Amino acid sequence: MSGEPGGPAGGRQAGPAAAAPSSVPGFGRRVLAAGLAGLLGPRVASGVIAGASAQAPQPGESSETIRVTLLGTGTPMPSGERFGNSTLVEAGGQRLLFDFGRGVSIRLWQLRLPLGSIDAHFLTHFHSDHLGGLPDLWLTGWLRPPYGQRNAPFLLYGPPGTAQLAQGLRTAFAQDIATRLADERSPEAGIAFDAREVPPGVAYERDGLRVTAFANDHGELVRPSYGYRIEWRGRSVVLSGDTRYSPEVVRQGRGADLLLHCVTLIPPALLAGNPGYRAVYDHLASPADAARTLAEARPSLGALSHIGLNGEATVEDLVRALRAGYDGPLVVGEDLLAFEIGAQGTVTYRRGRP
Ligand SMILES: [Zn+2]
Ligand SMILES: [Zn+2]
Repeated sequence: MSGEPGGPAGGRQAGPAAAAPSSVPGFGRRVLAAGLAGLLGPRVASGVIAGASAQAPQPGESSETIRVTLLGTGTPMPSGERFGNSTLVEAGGQRLLFDFGRGVSIRLWQLRLPLGSIDAHFLTHFHSDHLGGLPDLWLTGWLRPPYGQRNAPFLLYGPPGTAQLAQGLRTAFAQDIATRLADERSPEAGIAFDAREVPPGVAYERDGLRVTAFANDHGELVRPSYGYRIEWRGRSVVLSGDTRYSPEVVRQGRGADLLLHCVTLIPPALLAGNPGYRAVYDHLASPADAARTLAEARPSLGALSHIGLNGEATVEDLVRALRAGYDGPLVVGEDLLAFEIGAQGTVTYRRGRP
């Protein structure tokens, strides 16, 4: 997102307002809502789902499963509830991390995942709300305590400009790195960057897990900007990245098990009284844009992250606005909400507590 103005938003909701009609025609795969007591408010307790099961899910480590965890669902606004944008995808025994917003290291360690245990990192674009947490992740992940433990180079994929970013960080933290190499004898390989600038197309493929970068539309002057499609054993997850309505996101999202989309809501009165907000909608999806994308792509489950609630806007306002244009399965993300895509369809559950 481009430094949009922000009001006291982002943390007003009581919980992750999963919202969808109790019966959704045309969606054959089951989408289960888990941990219902804590996850869904009474207003939406009827659920996420056609054919929902009251049975608690059993998040597992099936080799068939893709697990997606929202580490940060926020925007540039410094929020204690919604950290900067970051999404963890786990499949086939690999951990992939997409964007590194403020607080990503905290969220990873809340899950007791060592920062150094990420196999590959992917950047969507260079706005600071997507990489403000990168220096911390990179440097703290190199330390020797259990929360660190990286012994191999930090594998970083991203658009052209990624190598410059890595080189600049290396320069900025040269004193710290030199000191620790001499003083703590930390392994030199663990602080190296392996930065790989990729064009749109297949960026990563290892043991059947594939990541494809695609160009989204984050505004005329914010290029390159990517979304990513992750595929594993016939299942797929699409991350829109920061974008306004983009036909390419629709194309990539068609048939996906999970389409995770950004959204920002600016109440009409705020928009009218502060023309500066208009520029936000030139860069990021409004609820109507996100609804249009989801309606055209028809993923098995649509979910929202990078959620901008400006002024007095609430999650309820957001859901109401989206429902004007999209009636399929929908979950409004919150930090540490996780999705498990496996043989039973998509299971949503709360993986940990912020
Ligand atoms: Zn952003
Ligand atoms: Zn951005």
